This record gives sequence, C-alpha cells and structure tokens, in this order.
Amino acid sequence: MKEYPIGRFAPTPSGRMHLGNAFAYLLAWLSVRSRDGEMILRMEDLDTLRCTTQLAEGIREDLRWLGLLWDRETPPQRERTDAYEAALQRLKERGHVFPCWCTRGSLNLVNAPHASDGHPIHPASCRNRSEAERKLQKEPPAWRLEAPDLEIRFTDGLCGAYSENLMTECGDFVLRRADGVFVYQLAVVVDDGEAGVNEVVRGCDLLSSTPRQLYLYRLLGLTPPSYYHVPMLTDAEGRKLSKRDADMDLGQLRKTMRPEQVIGRLAFRCGLLAREEAVSARELAADFSWQKLRREDIIIGETKEDA
Ligand SMILES: [Zn+2]
Repeated sequence: MKEYPIGRFAPTPSGRMHLGNAFAYLLAWLSVRSRDGEMILRMEDLDTLRCTTQLAEGIREDLRWLGLLWDRETPPQRERTDAYEAALQRLKERGHVFPCWCTRGSLNLVNAPHASDGHPIHPASCRNRSEAERKLQKEPPAWRLEAPDLEIRFTDGLCGAYSENLMTECGDFVLRRADGVFVYQLAVVVDDGEAGVNEVVRGCDLLSSTPRQLYLYRLLGLTPPSYYHVPMLTDAEGRKLSKRDADMDLGQLRKTMRPEQVIGRLAFRCGLLAREEAVSARELAADFSWQKLRREDIIIGETKEDA
C-alpha cells in the first residue's frame, strides 16, 4: 500500500521569506501535491525575540502569492512548550537526559569542534556529577541528551546514504537551554511526529542534524519521516543565499516578477524545466519527479544582469 504523503512548510518568522526558502517550499509542495497528499504549515518561532506574528503573516502571504497553499496550520512552536516539556519529562524518566552547567567557553577549551556543524563535542564526564555536586549549582541547568555509541544510518531521497556516530561525531546535545528555551532538535521531532508528517523536505544545511532527530524519534516512540535534503541556492561566488541578500527576498522579487516567473526560474535552475519560462506551481506538479532534480548547489544569485 502506498503511503499518503503528509508534508509541511516550517518557516521561521524572523524575517521576510527569501528565495532559498521559497525553493525548499516549492519542492516540498510539489512532492506532496503530485501524489495528492496533505500539506501542513507550522511557524517555527522558538526564538520569541526575533519572531513576530506580523512576520508570520508576511510568510503566509508570500506562500499564497507563490500559489503554495496548505491544508491546515498546526500551532506555532511558541504555543507548544507543554508538549516539549512532556517529551523531555519522558526522556528524564528513562534516564536519557542529564543536567549540564557547562558554558560555551569551557566546552571550546576542552574539545574539538563537531565534525559537521562546528559545535564543540560535550565531555561525557559531565554526565557523572554526583547528586551533591548538582545540588551545589545555583544556576538552572541546560538539559542534554546522552549520545550513545550508536551509528545512525538513513537514506536521504536526494543525498543518498548518510550516517553518523552520535557519540564520536556529535556528542551529548542540548534539548532545553539553561534559559528554559527548547531547542529546534526536540521541537521539530515532537511537532512533526505528533502531526503525522511523513515527508520532510528542507535545505541540505540541515542534513547533519538528521541523525540526532532520528535518535529522538526512536526514543520517543514516534515514526520518522522520509527526508529530502535539497541543494542550496548560492550566488555566483558559491555563497549560500540568506536573509542578508535583501534583493533575494520575496518583498523585492514581488516588485518586479510575477509568481509564475519566480517559480519558472527556480524550476529551470533546479532541472525541473528544460528552459526558463513562466509556470505555476500547479502546472509543475503534474509531472514532478525527484529524479529530475539537480543534486549540486544551484547558482541563482547573479540574476541582476540576466533577469
Ligand atoms: Zn556539560
């Protein structure tokens, strides 16, 4: 039996949507819509200082403009603290997490950086503080998940086989920071898992966080999705597009382009169209296939001249 696909858009409403986000959302939408699946929207606003409801509304408006409609919106992360707390509690009860008072400075001193994302590997010795030692601490702790000597393997729909040893390549990782804020790794698993999301399409900059998330799925008894980590959009120098590139945000693009032109350009550059032409997302969905997609980074940032 074929699985009914449930995908999601999970924007962070801390700024205007840029073309790189639009690209990942387009592919997520095409993959789900081409198989009559369901699309969920969720605002990833854990950073309550930078994320606003006004920016969230701007992202909804940009998605509508692009023709990337969703079927339902699940609660934003800022309203999901109870669910994350419950998940952390379950992990505490089973002895998978421990309190940690390490500072960033002390971690940088003793450890080599994480192979993939540059974070220092946390010293396992921190797990073994005595109860008396813990009671002496005056500050609230961060809560870390013990990283076991376990190789997590999965096959990405685009990037192929990927594996990571959690202990040696990642180390114990934070689930809730000392200031009480839950981290993305836990929130995304609880949210996607509870919403029944079975397909995650996102930028390949998040590939290296997937083993941690798969381990959390396992510990929490949730069913993991399949993953497609899509190429990054870069400028002519190979620099990843980001919110710094103001001319690549939807606010600017909407001044000079129609949605079908934006979609057509993305589709052409990533291999879904043989030549650049205006096309709607709906038209593209008719014969979408992951097989057509380019695997390497996609240069799009030099378009000032060739626009
Ligand atoms: Zn520690």
